[in-house]
Amino acid sequence: MGILGTFQKFRNGLAKTRDSIVAKLDHAINAKSTIDAELLENLEEILLAGDVGVQTTALILDNIKRRVKEEKYESSHYLMVLLKDQVASLLHSNGNESDDVMKLPPTPRPHVIIVVGINGVGKTTTIGKLAYNYRNLGYKVVIGAADTFRAAANEQLEIWAKRAGVEMVQQARGSDPASVAFDALSSALAKNADILIIDTAGRLHTKTNLMEELKKIKRVLQKRLPGAPHEVLLVLDASTGQNGLQQARFFTDAVNVTGLVLTKLDGTAKGGIILAVNQELKIPVKYIGVGEQIDDLQPFDRKSFVDALFGSQDVSSEPVKG
Ligand code: GDP
Ligand code: GDP
Ligand code: MG
Repeated sequence: MGILGTFQKFRNGLAKTRDSIVAKLDHAINAKSTIDAELLENLEEILLAGDVGVQTTALILDNIKRRVKEEKYESSHYLMVLLKDQVASLLHSNGNESDDVMKLPPTPRPHVIIVVGINGVGKTTTIGKLAYNYRNLGYKVVIGAADTFRAAANEQLEIWAKRAGVEMVQQARGSDPASVAFDALSSALAKNADILIIDTAGRLHTKTNLMEELKKIKRVLQKRLPGAPHEVLLVLDASTGQNGLQQARFFTDAVNVTGLVLTKLDGTAKGGIILAVNQELKIPVKYIGVGEQIDDLQPFDRKSFVDALFGSQDVSSEPVKG
């Protein structure tokens, strides 16, 4: 897919969030000529409603108020530009990349990725999409089916592996997930695969066991290939809002999460959760899911995100001062 097509998908996936945050703010701005306390309160409400979160909203508001004061912005139309600046700098300071997050270092091989998160957030779907994207880039991909807990998990992942055109390693339901991970890594090594992606269980009612299971998977991979896993992706359902943040903490406490995937952005106006989890966890966002199809996973590019949210808005007739 060309770059324009990709950006358009990215942009469309954020349509509801753009409508809820940017379009609402634009409306508030047009009703006012100057940036005053009431307009700033409106901004705060809009950000909270868009699930930017209390802490992150306060940070953004503080910075905007400081700039308004120090740099003497008066016209209400500057507010959109100031918000855009804040979003951009927040994403920048929290480690989000602005080039290809899918580009792999030349070694080691395979590059091992574990995908974690609670049931239903979209792990298996994300793995299918990720495998497809990597395969389209010319990489040889193997998938390990280490969710041995959920009924029909193997079958579901196998459908995705077939769609993506990649191989999958599995064992019977109820097998030791670490054993599946070990076998999958052995298979990936034997086949000279570039990438191994491992699916995991997400049952919530036995949190401690799940975290122990994930740690064990990591230990076993490490034993087979020192340095593995190279990435641990935590998948969060963007439509669950602040609950997602709570869930995320269980995982980040137990395993060293290296990147976030926010799914189901196509279905929610609360995409501000991206900013909240990124700011509060200080973990980069690597991908966003914008639909159920195989090509609906978008690498998270911070510049594209800002452009997709604010790009179409005629935010100001004059450039920002300073
Ligand atoms: P898992 O339990 O974490 O493995 O979650 P699944 O991959 O089985 O996905 C749960 C549901 O979420 C499925 O119905 C998926 O089609 C759906 N889903 C996953 N990602 C997205 C997305 O980005 N957008 C939408 N609309 N649905 C998604
Ligand atoms: P521990 O449970 O944390 O002590 O980890 P172990 O090193 O005992 O291994 C955990 C799981 O990984 C076991 O249940 C095995 O199924 C699997 N495993 C570990 N080493 C090997 C190995 O050499 N070959 C195979 N096939 N599986 C292994
Ligand atoms: Mg699954």
